[in-house]
Formats: sequence, C-alpha cells, structure tokens
Amino acid sequence: MAEVQSTAAADPARPLVKVRDLKMYFPIHSGLFRTHVGDIKAVDGISFDIMPGETLGLVGESGCGKSTVGRSILRLYDVTAGTVEINGSEIAHVDRDSLRSKRPMMQMIFQDPQASLNPRMTVANIIGEPLDEHMKLTAKERLERIYELMDWVGLNHAFAKRYPHEFSGGQRQRIGIARALALNPKFIVCDEPIAALDVSIQAQVVNLLETLQKRLNLTYLFISHDLSMVRHIADRVAVMYLGRIVEVASREKLFAEPLHPYTQALLSAVPEPDPESERHRSPIVLQGDVPSPANPPKGCNFSTRCPKVMDICRQIEPAVYDFGDGRQVACHLYSEDMTMTGEPTTGETTN
Ligand code: SF4
Repeated sequence: MAEVQSTAAADPARPLVKVRDLKMYFPIHSGLFRTHVGDIKAVDGISFDIMPGETLGLVGESGCGKSTVGRSILRLYDVTAGTVEINGSEIAHVDRDSLRSKRPMMQMIFQDPQASLNPRMTVANIIGEPLDEHMKLTAKERLERIYELMDWVGLNHAFAKRYPHEFSGGQRQRIGIARALALNPKFIVCDEPIAALDVSIQAQVVNLLETLQKRLNLTYLFISHDLSMVRHIADRVAVMYLGRIVEVASREKLFAEPLHPYTQALLSAVPEPDPESERHRSPIVLQGDVPSPANPPKGCNFSTRCPKVMDICRQIEPAVYDFGDGRQVACHLYSEDMTMTGEPTTGETTN
C-alpha cells in the first residue's frame, strides 16, 4: 500500500514543534462603517517547544486562549504574528498550497466528536476522507487502510458502514482519532479530547491516546482544563492565563512545587487522591473575574487577581525567568533582585 510520508524523520534531539511569540488577535469592528476599534487578544505572544514523542499539557481556565493556541499552530486561523515550526517546516506564514502539502504531518482531535464528524457520512468515508484528499489508493488499498486504522483505535470492522449517530460518545471519539491518524501525522493537537465524554470512558480514551503515542511515536499538545488528566498524560505542562503562558515545567516539578501565583491557585483547587494530603489542602480562592482579553490589565495580566501583587506588577509586564531545569516562570517574584534582596527589578529577562 502507498504510504504517506509526511516529511523527513524527526531529529530526536531537536524540538518537533517550535512556537515563538505567537499572537492571535481577533479584530473588533463597530458602527455603520465597521470601523476597527480594537482586538480580542486571545493569544498574546507565547513561545514553547515540544520534543519528538513528548506530550505538552496546556492548561488554564475556560476562555484563557488555550484552544486558540492549538488552532493557530495548525493554521486553522491565520495568525496575527509569530512563527510556528513543525518538523522543520514553517507553518504560520506559508501560502495555502504549501500548507495543504504539510497538513498530513499535523492533525487535530476535537473536543466534541458529535460536532466534528459529518452525520451524513459512513465511518469508512469519514476515516477515508483524508486518504482521498492526499493519497492515490486503489479501492482495496483504501479499505485495508481504513480497517487498519479501525483496528488501531479498537473499532469493529462491522461498524464501517454505519453512521456517527449510531455510536456512543467514546466510539465517536475513536472514529475521530482514526481519522486524525489516517495520514501518519507526527504531531497531534488534542483539544479537550475527553471533556465531552462520560467520566467512565474518559480514561479509556486517554489510555488509547497513550498507546497510540508509543506505537506511532506521536507528539501531542494536550489541551485540557482537567488538571488530574493532564497530570496523568503530560510530560511537561504549560499554564495559560489571559492569552499568555505564565509557567512551564515538568509535570513532576509543576505539581510538586508550583511557582507562579496563578498556578498555585489553579492546583490548590485540585482534590488530592491521598486522604491525608486532602485533609490539609487549602484552596486559594481568587477574587474578581478574569479581565476581558480585549482590554487586558497593564503590566502583569494576573495583577488584578493575584494575592501577591506588588506595585511593579501593575506597571511592567514580567519577563520570563528561566530556572535552567526546564522551568520558566513569568512573574516579578522571581526576578534576580527580588530573590536576592526582596526588591523587584524592572523585569529584565534572564533567557
Ligand atoms: Fe502576581 Fe506580580 Fe507575579 Fe503577576 S508579576 S503573578 S501580579 S506577583
């Protein structure tokens, strides 16, 4: 059977995904002449890497911009600024034809399998659609490939001629995963892939994603508001607040010792599995609402709700402080002068 070869094999020592200063602004128009009066800054200058075979968890409250990050990286939106490199190919600013040729290596698994599957297509045609668009297969080769993909995700071949409404939510998500795998992608954005599923089948889908990752050496950006699930699946975790990444660290370090005040508040709300630890857990309740991304606060985005806010926070955006162990934190509390003297600096970056 003809194999789709997305691009050259990934170098295990180099990031498969490199995102630099990515911005995604949605314009606000007003009045009779639809004058441009401002922007919703859904993603406001974020940078991160993902290594081959790694899972980066992207967490934050609803509306913080994490799904927009996933869609922007895959160029489902035309990004406002910044660069995205996947397996050595620039994605953010290539023309439509070049983008189409790069689609096989990057795919997405959506939150709502019900909405993301065409109700008028059979399972075989849903899974086979990417094959039709990007490969030239005989009918026999196409069906063999569809069956292979159904085997990978645990779907019975007898389901091939059925329609999405005949399946449970978990089975529909398996169809979506099979479709995403059809062209042998290297990188998959999993956008809240279990949020719409019953709790009883969430673990099955997460286990399937882990099994497929090992088998196919996939690299994931796993977007979720469910910190317990991210703790289970992610190698590293990036925490987002109001369009920006405030902390990145390995899963172990982030959950054992969150440094950014927002991460501390977010994690304090997660129940501990150990009853003794749970008894001593004291959730940090944040005051006020998340500000509008159309009008974010001056200085630190989190300054209107931060329990540790200082004068400098309301004036100057904090730099990203690199702890040299894979952890980065955007907070004035960790500026060099602050850690040595207790006084904040003007926020010069250390990386
Ligand atoms: Fe809080 Fe200031 Fe740090 Fe922002 S920079 S998280 S307001 S302490």
